Amino acid sequence: NTSNDSDKTLIDSNTSDRILLDRVDSVDSQDDPLGHSWNRQNSLAATMREWDIPYEDLIISDPIGVGRFGTVHKGHWHGDVAIKVLHLVNDADYQAQLAAFRLELALLRKTRHENLVLFMGACMKPPRLAIVTSFCKGETLYTLIHEKKDTFKINKATIIASQVAQGMSYLHSRSIIHKDLRSKNIFIDSGKVVITDFGLFHVTKICRGNKKDDWLSVPRGWLCYLAPEIIRALKALQHAEKDLPFTKMSDLYAFGTVWYELLCSEWPFRSQPCETVIWQVGRGLKQSLNTVNAPREVKDILMSCWAFSPSERPDFTQITKALERVPRTRLIRSPSHPVHLSRSTEG
Ligand code: ADP
Ligand code: MG
Repeated sequence: NTSNDSDKTLIDSNTSDRILLDRVDSVDSQDDPLGHSWNRQNSLAATMREWDIPYEDLIISDPIGVGRFGTVHKGHWHGDVAIKVLHLVNDADYQAQLAAFRLELALLRKTRHENLVLFMGACMKPPRLAIVTSFCKGETLYTLIHEKKDTFKINKATIIASQVAQGMSYLHSRSIIHKDLRSKNIFIDSGKVVITDFGLFHVTKICRGNKKDDWLSVPRGWLCYLAPEIIRALKALQHAEKDLPFTKMSDLYAFGTVWYELLCSEWPFRSQPCETVIWQVGRGLKQSLNTVNAPREVKDILMSCWAFSPSERPDFTQITKALERVPRTRLIRSPSHPVHLSRSTEG
């Protein structure tokens, strides 16, 4: 009976969800030249239903830390999870920013790679907005390098960098720009690299403490990951609420800085005031590698990632190949290297 069949199609929401979800993939994996906004809206609605976690279902424990997003809590939802609870600012832009948040979440659900944190879902009903990911048990590269003062031999540094490059090359193949690649967002969990916080930078605009006037009070150790084209755009941000021009190539620049941290156990431009870093990077000057006693292959990777012109930077597939060519020998630092100086004064 045809009329029954069509009734069934109409009321069977499970089936219709599935059809719509199929469309989601085709819609957000490519531009929609015909402007099928109906499809887009319905697809998004279906996506949200699938990834929405009711806030009441989460068991939220102690806060682990406060970052740009708001507060991160350890929590429980079918096992240990990390819950990023967003602190909202209810201003004129609120609805647009909420929509941006949801769009960025729609991208995250498409990520499956062993070097990327597992996105599990999100609480999407205002005012309770939160992002739920797997909980990383290990420590961040930041903690290991800058707090515990660990140093890595060239072999270990190369293995870590290769895993970062693989996670990043996967993200880029899915058209996701990380926008915030730095040692604080790279965990070493049971010997494996896990990258976090990709694609969420725009979310920070809806979080307290990141409003216009604060833009140039940047967190410590953040500037050195910003490519020259981003540094130059920072100035414009003081006057207008504009997006920073992040691209795949600006991720490559940030990777260069992570590679430097792995090799030298410190940030480039260490101890230099912000204005000096901005001035130098904006004009294409780079951290000198004179004191880094490393094979040519290692320095070549650094310099190519830090190229002033974005188009001259390699992609992550090329980085992976270049890392394979790094000779597996021990990196010896020159005695005048600042790491030794700071160590001896502390120890
Ligand atoms: P930041 O990246 O600047 O440290 P975040 O808001 O991303 O700020 O993180 C705040 C704190 O929560 C940090 O100590 C971070 O290491 C921790 N954290 C973030 N995500 C996770 C996770 N998936 N698992 C465990 N800890 C996490
Ligand atoms: Mg983080």
